Amino acid sequence: MSAAVNTDLHDLGVAELAAHLAAGKVSSVEATQHFLARIGQHDSLGAFLATDPDVSLAQARAADARLAAGERTPLLGVPLAHKDVFVTRDFPTTAGSKMLENYRSPFDATVVSRLGTASGGAGMVTLGKLNCDEFAMGSANENSAFKPVHNPWDTSRVPGGSSGGSAAAVAARLVPAATGTDTGGSIRQPASLAGITGIKPTYGRCSRYGMVAFASSLDQAGPMARSALDCALLLSAMAGPDLDRDSTSLDLPATNYAIDLIASSAGNTLATGPKGLKNLRIGLPTQFFGAGCAPDVLAAVRAALAEFEKLGATLVDVDLPLTELSIPVYYVIAPAEASSNLSRFDGVRYGHRAAHYTDLNDMYKKSRSEGFGDEATRRIMIGTYVLSHGYYDAYYLKAQKIRRLIAEDFQKAFTQCDIIAGPVSPTVAWKLGEKSDDPVASYLADIYTLSSSLAGLPGMSVPAGFGAHGLPVGLQLIGNYFREAQLLGTAHQFQLATDWHLRHPADY
Ligand code: GLN
Repeated sequence: MSAAVNTDLHDLGVAELAAHLAAGKVSSVEATQHFLARIGQHDSLGAFLATDPDVSLAQARAADARLAAGERTPLLGVPLAHKDVFVTRDFPTTAGSKMLENYRSPFDATVVSRLGTASGGAGMVTLGKLNCDEFAMGSANENSAFKPVHNPWDTSRVPGGSSGGSAAAVAARLVPAATGTDTGGSIRQPASLAGITGIKPTYGRCSRYGMVAFASSLDQAGPMARSALDCALLLSAMAGPDLDRDSTSLDLPATNYAIDLIASSAGNTLATGPKGLKNLRIGLPTQFFGAGCAPDVLAAVRAALAEFEKLGATLVDVDLPLTELSIPVYYVIAPAEASSNLSRFDGVRYGHRAAHYTDLNDMYKKSRSEGFGDEATRRIMIGTYVLSHGYYDAYYLKAQKIRRLIAEDFQKAFTQCDIIAGPVSPTVAWKLGEKSDDPVASYLADIYTLSSSLAGLPGMSVPAGFGAHGLPVGLQLIGNYFREAQLLGTAHQFQLATDWHLRHPADY
């Protein structure tokens, strides 16, 4: 193994790194050491909350042993890192909250064990745990109780959230891939702001077992990586029923998304031209292209759509009339569910316990006040309020009814198109601190991701160019239920024809 090859390992995506590992050009231990060194070198990005080289290297040695024994599974020995809302036995899990500082889970989340080196897992090595907004509540990663994350494209700016650590780590090439979770946009929006690819699958596609719960009817895990192909490789391992542990996981066989992709692009290289997207109808919701979206973002999105037309797709206008209501609806339902989910953090069952208190009630009060940050506290209060007697019908029930109508509007739109496209975020990455004192400004920035989350639909962010200040812009693709393969395939065709996903910030 020459030093020269070693230095370039972070140039490789998941698929390429896996090929190098399978061909014996590099060992998993060498790859793991390389990425751990990069993580240490770029610590100031704030992307990681925990690393443990001994644990990672032990996993890498286990992967190398499987490789040496002739096993050739697609992800074997490739390193990744997990958003810190997935519980892990071998690393602490904080969910970005002081409440869980020093918490160690006695078990691994299903997604973690399916990807990992334990028996039956895909054999990926865990490099550590990634920073995120407290309990995944936020759009800028500034709600992390520990430290903010800096966007590697401009370190004075946010990486998006709540999976901000995942997005920054992939964009800065500290990891080939990461996991994220998306309740109302937390995979797609940071992927967009950091210029990487991410997919939130259909609600239920990945097991929620071992994901620290935020809003259970919305929470969904997904991969974040450089390309659609890399996301497909990861999702194939992450997805699948887990009914004994998460009764809302979909009882559908796991698909090998990557095989579909490789088949769909067989014989098509950048040189020969991609196979094209003939017969694909892409719906553009009027509401996603209005005055609320910054002109630089719209320009990049429109240029990407023109590329899809060149590949054979047809653009059609569709209507999602309730888009604006997705913000109040989401910010009633998500806090309602959060207030219930977070009740377990009481200093007895889980979490921080105040050092001094007078009686049981005082202990609850002090433990929770000390453990939760401002945004979590705000949502617990809103959620408790909208669920309270006398307000339940006016807020929570009403929101549930509108949620149903939003889902129905998508089904109407899908009679006219196969995929819906638009921006992910109304602006490029904003400055750290710019919205941190104004929760409503931050909620409004979720406008394009919330409606599909409320409907439970799969969606992804695909790098689509650059906007103001040379910052990345993501194109959002939303599919109908269970159509992850179609989304990934469409994004893959786009990525065969473009190289936005291969660009990386100059200093990383
Ligand atoms: N920004 C949204 C929120 O703060 C979405 C977060 C998420 O998807 N986890 O709730």
